[in-house]
Amino acid sequence: MQFPELSERVAEVRGRIAAAVTRGGHAQHVTLVAVTKTFGVDAVQEAWGAGVHDVGENRVQEALPKIAAATVPVRWHLIGHLQRNKAKAAESFALVHSLDSVRLANAIHERGMARGRPIDVLVQVNVAEEAVKSGWAAAELPGEAERLMGLGGVRVLGVMTMAPLDADEALLRQTFTGARAARDVLRTAGHLATELSMGMSNDYEIAVEEGATMVRVGTRLFGVRTPATAGYGDD
Ligand SMILES: *Cc1c(COP(=O)(O)O)cnc(C)c1O
Repeated sequence: MQFPELSERVAEVRGRIAAAVTRGGHAQHVTLVAVTKTFGVDAVQEAWGAGVHDVGENRVQEALPKIAAATVPVRWHLIGHLQRNKAKAAESFALVHSLDSVRLANAIHERGMARGRPIDVLVQVNVAEEAVKSGWAAAELPGEAERLMGLGGVRVLGVMTMAPLDADEALLRQTFTGARAARDVLRTAGHLATELSMGMSNDYEIAVEEGATMVRVGTRLFGVRTPATAGYGDD
């Protein structure tokens, strides 16, 4: 076993999630997405063995060989940027968290139409409007939500956001509250939009208090990522 403490860590994170649901009062179900990026397929296999049914990868080139190699029926989540010319890869994932542009939406829509079944996506919202992050600003969302309703090849299940790296608690809460409001905008426009993907190793408890239905946790489960854990080159 590559990750001998994984079962205990999963139990600890799940316990903290449950406590945060109680504190937050949103009474939501929370899906734990174990982020296996930079680790080999054994991380996926062991996550399944520890009772985790959802795994997240941020790069298509890294994910596809793992998807091919895995022998356990996990749901695969794409949590990183998808290049428009690789939109076909969206079909390999149960959920694409990172719909971040009109052009990508159109490309994924075409794939969904071609396969005869829409592709499930989350709209990435850049709540804090950081230049380094992709996604829509909250103010752009009402118009965008309308337009996305016209794309039969995508099904918008909700919102994904990432808090600024150095955010204090006030900014974290502001970011997560903004994402929740963005989900309401999608719902008002007619989208299913039940999901709120927010929270990583350092901020998932606050995210759950603010209503997260999916948390994306890597380091807390598998340990610190180092170049040595990365078996794949850069894009
Ligand atoms: C890497 C990554 C995570 C997990 O980060 P940790 O801090 O290791 O939990 C979550 N979301 C996205 C989009 C990521 O790229």
